[in-house]
Parts: sequence; structure tokens; C-alpha cells
Amino acid sequence: MKTRVFFSVLVIATTLFSSSCTSNNGKSAPVAPKNVVVMIGDGMGTAQVYSLILTSNEKTSFERFPYTGFSITKSASNEITDSAAGGTAIAIGKKTNNGVIGMNSDSIPVPSMLDILAEQGKKTGVVVTCSVTHATPADFIAHNISRKNNEEIALEISEKERLDVLFGGGKKYFTERNDKEDLIEKMWKNGWNIYDSLPQITDNNARTMVLTCRKHMKKASERGDYLPKATAKVLEMLDNENGFFLMVEGSQIDFACHDNDSATMVDEMRDFNKAINVVLDFAEKDRNTLVIVTADHETGGLSIIDPDGKYTKTNFHFSTGSHSAVFVPVFAYGPGAENFTGIMDNTEIISKILEIVR
Ligand code: MG
Ligand code: ZN
Repeated sequence: MKTRVFFSVLVIATTLFSSSCTSNNGKSAPVAPKNVVVMIGDGMGTAQVYSLILTSNEKTSFERFPYTGFSITKSASNEITDSAAGGTAIAIGKKTNNGVIGMNSDSIPVPSMLDILAEQGKKTGVVVTCSVTHATPADFIAHNISRKNNEEIALEISEKERLDVLFGGGKKYFTERNDKEDLIEKMWKNGWNIYDSLPQITDNNARTMVLTCRKHMKKASERGDYLPKATAKVLEMLDNENGFFLMVEGSQIDFACHDNDSATMVDEMRDFNKAINVVLDFAEKDRNTLVIVTADHETGGLSIIDPDGKYTKTNFHFSTGSHSAVFVPVFAYGPGAENFTGIMDNTEIISKILEIVR
């Protein structure tokens, strides 16, 4: 009993000290996050998370989240969403048709949470291991009728007025274009710093794009610690008194599950797990950062079974080379995290965030 009282006092004290918005009568107002990090495991259903837990000796990042929920992923056009529509629902809060980037189901562009928070004066960044023009990053930074229009999406990125940091692949869509434009040269002239590796960055305050390869990066076992390192670097670059919005994607969990390659799937989960730990370590210290980890959909129809039905061994079993229609998990940490419980539509994530961010 005594212990419980002690912990309650500790929790209240922590809440008071971390709150910067105490109202006039001395009562503490709800704590609002200054920074928002949304992390998307592409294709990451509950079985993918469980695969990591089963194969890890240490506690995973997912077990550090105090609040969890489920997200309904269906798109406007299909019960089984693709990454374009699944990411768009998270980014703009509207259901759209499969294949569509950052537009509603009437093909009208809608500002993403990155756009809205940038407009409110926050720094913004996106970090992925696929081409930066690929569906998930594009959902946050572009608006296009089709995910296939990589060159148009690159052009939109190059002309974007508000975006501070972009790390990923996809250089060919900027420099090997049908219109013969060199977007990288144009972006340098417009004040961007552009490199092909992270250690080349010299100015944390400049708008910076790092494209490490022509298209997608190599798979986790061959690309090393890129994602956790890029995540640490972007946090260093974005952290400022007005706050920031960051989207980090574990892009290739989906690729491995399309290939029904369980070893690579676990490697990708392990890599994403490291990036999440980097963000949670930052958020723990900072105490002003809301961290949401979720997925756009599940890929592979993964289950973990004993093929002999005897409960004695665990095999990874994929039931499709495509996506499935199941709940995906939502994990929340930080000020306002308590809002992300129960079953929510994927379109509700943005409204919940925008209601509480300051
Ligand atoms: Mg993706
Ligand atoms: Zn996919």
C-alpha cells in the first residue's frame, strides 16, 4: 500500500514537472507534446511484432510502450489496402483508393500532418530505407494520383517549401529523368544540402537530403545500422524550441513479407526495433515527444505455428505473397499517449495527434 502511494506521488510529481502549461489556478492542464514522431513498420502486423519478441533475448522496444491499440486499415476502394492508401489515411486522415498518394478518394490533395505541423512552425523530417518517392514517404510529403509516378513525386519533393530533412534512397528519380532535369542541382541552388551518406552532413540547420542509392537500399543484413543511425542523426537535426514532426519507416518489413522470407523479415524487424529504441531513448530524456508506432497494413498473412499441431516448435508460415486485411497494432508513448487505445480507424491517428500537439 505504501509503495503504491509513493508511486502515485511520483507519477503526479513527474506530470507536474514535465508540464509546461500550468493554468492560473495552479491546476496542471493536460500535458501536450511539442514533438511528434510517427514510425511506420510497412507490412508490420501483430505476428511480425511477435516474431521479434520470440527471437529476441532482450526486451524489445515494443514492450516499452505504456499504451497500445488497434488500427483498422481498409482503404476507400478495397478491404485490403496497399501502402499508398494505408499511409495516406495515416498522413492526411482521409480514406483514399489504393494507389493514391496524399489525396482523398476524389483525388483532391489534402495537407498531411507533416504539412500542417510545418505550417505551425515545426521542423519536419522523413527517414526511410526505400526510395524517398515510394508510397509511404510520398504519402507524407507529396500528393499524386498514382504511387507509380516516382519522377513526378521527386519533382514535388524538389519544389517543396517546407521540409527540412529527408533521408532514403531513390536518387535516380532526381537525376535520371525523362524530362532530363537534374533536380539535385536545382535543389542545391535553392538552398538544400544534398549528399549520398550521413557522415557528409556538416550543417545540422540546413535543409538536407541524403540519398544513399539509386532506388531502394539493400536489405537489413547488408545495409548495416543505417536506419538507427539515420534516426539518431535526424533527431539531432530537428530538435529545436518550436518542436518537430518526424516520420520514420521500417520500409522493407513489407518487402521481406512479400517474398515470404522470414529470416529477412526478422532482420528488418530487428532493425526497426533499434530505430524505435533510439526514438524512445530521446523521448524519455526530452519528455515532450509523442511517439506513435504503427503499420499501414499486414503483409504475408503471417502466422506462427507448429505445422504438426503439437505446440512443440514454432514455424513462420506465410499464407500470401500480398497484403492481408487484419488489425495492425498502434503503440504510443509520451504526452497524450493515453489517447491511442482501443480500436481506432487509421484516419483517426492524425486527428488525435493534432488535437493534443502544441
Ligand atoms: Mg512503405
Ligand atoms: Zn506491400
